[in-house]
Amino acid sequence: MSECIFCRIASGEIPAKLVAQTADAVAFHDLNPQAPTHVLVIPRTHLPNAAATDSEEGERIAGRLVRLAAQVAEQLGLGAKGYRLVMNVGPDGGQSVAHLHVHLLGGRRMTWPPG
Ligand code: 5GP
Ligand code: ZN
Repeated sequence: MSECIFCRIASGEIPAKLVAQTADAVAFHDLNPQAPTHVLVIPRTHLPNAAATDSEEGERIAGRLVRLAAQVAEQLGLGAKGYRLVMNVGPDGGQSVAHLHVHLLGGRRMTWPPG
């Protein structure tokens, strides 16, 4: 049994509010939403974060994550107004779960710079 919470969500061992899934990736609602829509998109394969995608396989996984995030954004009606995709990396990036993920945030106007 994996100790990684996102591996456990990907395998269905821990429940989550699923939005979409493919052979490679799973999209589900964040437990602690920071916007009206806050979805996490994760690969089924465990990689710690974007710093671990420096390979052909990593590139494929990261590309499919972004692709699914954009598809989910369209599916949830965010396409016209826009949305934000975020990947936090390491402590300064604010990463709290060490399994690669893209945050899809939408439904309100985002501010810049981020906190
Ligand atoms: P990070 O801070 O690593 O970029 O993002 C991790 C995200 O995972 C956070 O926004 C947090 O709310 C979310 N999260 C942590 N544990 C769970 C969980 O068990 N289920 C769901 N749906 N989201 C989680
Ligand atoms: Zn994992």
